[in-house]
Amino acid sequence: MSRGLYVHIPFCIRKCYYCDFNSFRLRGPERDHFLDLLEQEADRWAARLEAAGGVPVLDTLYVGGGTPTTLEAGQLARLFGALRQRFPLAPQAEITVEANPGTLTLEKLAALREAGVNRLSLGAQVFDDGLLRRLGREHDAAAIETSVALAREAGIPSLNLDLIFALPGQDLRGWRATLQRALALEPDHLSCYSLIIEEGTPFYRWHQMGRLPRPDEEEELAMYQAAIEAAEGAGLAQYEISNFARPGHQSRHNLIYWRNQPYLGLGPGAHSWWEGVRRANLGPLPAYEAALQAGRLPLEREEPISRALEMDETMFLGLRLTREGVDRAAFRARFGTEPEAVYGLAIDRLVRLGLLEADAHRIRLTRQGVPVANQVFLAFLRTVPTAV
Ligand code: SF4
Repeated sequence: MSRGLYVHIPFCIRKCYYCDFNSFRLRGPERDHFLDLLEQEADRWAARLEAAGGVPVLDTLYVGGGTPTTLEAGQLARLFGALRQRFPLAPQAEITVEANPGTLTLEKLAALREAGVNRLSLGAQVFDDGLLRRLGREHDAAAIETSVALAREAGIPSLNLDLIFALPGQDLRGWRATLQRALALEPDHLSCYSLIIEEGTPFYRWHQMGRLPRPDEEEELAMYQAAIEAAEGAGLAQYEISNFARPGHQSRHNLIYWRNQPYLGLGPGAHSWWEGVRRANLGPLPAYEAALQAGRLPLEREEPISRALEMDETMFLGLRLTREGVDRAAFRARFGTEPEAVYGLAIDRLVRLGLLEADAHRIRLTRQGVPVANQVFLAFLRTVPTAV
């Protein structure tokens, strides 16, 4: 079983209009202080794991945000030094950093390479300057291309581009043009998510006011199909509902989430699933800081995960993996039973509807099942988690 570490850097140059991630507009002197706090949290976790039998070797490290590359080169070096000192990484560990166009320099990239970073995930979103402005993004399309060139020059061996579709004012033709420009950069991995209007964002307010005309469901589905065709045509196989990769470039960190394997999250608002307990950290920086200064882990909630919920989650997260699906052998080894013993009726019904396929090795979505995956997943949710 693989184990991962997620580290959340909550700063951004400015806040995008659609974003509800835990991120704050960067102000001058706070980054070094934030790294002090993160080190305190890492110390607490390392001590806790040590007391429980030893800090395990981790297979993936993912530094996300926010925009981790708002840190300066020296701060990035400090961050990775501090993490490596406390958490042993496997020799072939995948080490990913998220970045946004316009925040990368060769100096920062050299610091990341020096720290062992072998994967960069770039928030491109769309190759259309008008739409980028409408999203409140800080960069233009040319900056995406410059960032990719810098990453290549610095020798980053694996590159992901994140894209968003079904944007206000976007049509299928515009989305195809974005896909074409993104794929022309020959990324090793591509993520394509449709825009979700999140409560509490400017987009939510504008949507309520009717000021955000969006593609209808049919057009959104056509955009999704266009992404699959374009990515697969460029040699990036779909391996998850929204993710595509060249052979050997799947996101190993995200595979940990989809295979429902353990991960630890550090930083404000980060989530963990570790030894049967799900935890969420406090999001606002002052609350995160106050907890650490009071000598506690900065937890907002802890929720023990029952065996039944763990099983449900293993099913519907595994079904996100469009090729691998839920691996029967892994499920048996983990739960001592076949999926049919628990979900037999649901599996039969979904197979009859042509949405799932089940063979001797795995259960997975069919091509027809992929676009309606969220409805399929509902069939596997027997339990509703309760926070304690
Ligand atoms: S750069 Fe990313 S994390 Fe930061 S505000 Fe924009 S969408 Fe949110």
